Amino acid sequence: MTKPIYVTQPDLPPLEEFLPYLEKIWDSKVLTNGGPMHQQLEQALCDHLGVEHLALFANGTVALVTALQALRITGEVITTPYSFVATAHSLLWNGIKPVFVDVDPNTLNLDPARIEAAITPHTTAIMPVHCYGHPCDVNAIQRIADNYNLRVIYDAAHAFGVQDANGSVLNHGDLSVLSFHATKVFNTFEGGAIVCPDAKTKQRIDHLKNFGFVDEVTVVAPGINGKMSEFNAALGLLQLQHIDQAMARRKAIDAAYREQLAGVKGIHCLNDADEKVANHSYFPILVQPEYPLSRDALYQKLKDHNIYARRYFYPLISDFPMYRGMPSAQRGNLPVAADASAKVLCLPIYPDLLPQEQQRVIDIIRDA
Ligand SMILES: *Cc1c(COP(=O)(O)O)cnc(C)c1O
Repeated sequence: MTKPIYVTQPDLPPLEEFLPYLEKIWDSKVLTNGGPMHQQLEQALCDHLGVEHLALFANGTVALVTALQALRITGEVITTPYSFVATAHSLLWNGIKPVFVDVDPNTLNLDPARIEAAITPHTTAIMPVHCYGHPCDVNAIQRIADNYNLRVIYDAAHAFGVQDANGSVLNHGDLSVLSFHATKVFNTFEGGAIVCPDAKTKQRIDHLKNFGFVDEVTVVAPGINGKMSEFNAALGLLQLQHIDQAMARRKAIDAAYREQLAGVKGIHCLNDADEKVANHSYFPILVQPEYPLSRDALYQKLKDHNIYARRYFYPLISDFPMYRGMPSAQRGNLPVAADASAKVLCLPIYPDLLPQEQQRVIDIIRDA
């Protein structure tokens, strides 16, 4: 049997490069609570991403939960069913009701044309996702938010390093939330961050992620423990040194898939957007009816060859038991998302994927 190929494989720099960072942590004996590695990584990420302020977190989900707390969001929030389940879970953890709105068939991001119809007197915010790192229609979303006085919190877990015509896509909306989970483009094993526009908001977020402490004796909010440790921050500093190289490899893999799958009838490659800096975090294809196999049959065929593609995002968030009873979760309200969820397959893409391994994936898809 050939070596298994997974949809992603964590990007790890050489171990010996990490040892000097560990020595520094051991020498200083500062393990967490905003130590030197944490401070350095916040600054380095601001510089790398082109954002003003950023607060590190232990993971992306606690960052999402805290972002909603920071803006005191309540009532109902409009969001997408076509995402990882943490997007909507962060709303439930705040006692907020998610209201699902369908996605755009080209980008699979929240469709701005459908947002207004879902706004009620209880709506306080919109939580879109830059799905697969492809930027949302940020201007249309902001216009609606301004008209109805809503806040916008982007789940930008897929959007590390993505730029549009105006620079970092993370500068849109009120807040953007990143994930540095092992499976993401930039990883600290576990980790995340909130990008925010001003120092005052960052300060509130920094209090919230540290139990609400301002100083030794003052607690100003019912905060949580969301802090990133020095170990994870050190990993981030090391990963940043290799990120450009990793992105270049992803770009080449993306291009090879597009070129070699272009002529395959019934295989549609998503998000070929070369007008911006993309991060090539995923390689989603839609398996159309003209293809000889169903999506699930192709998924199985690849699996039989030891290739583990993933059906992101299937099932839809709105189909999970804690959501499916909601009126907005009904299939009739979400036809585009339901269709994409039944057709999508994410193919292996990661810096260490070898050209001959990628060719095996392509050949199986072509030979059906
Ligand atoms: C990965 C991911 C999250 C959760 O991030 P964690 O760091 O794993 O908690 C949230 N939303 C989306 C869209 C994700 O892909």
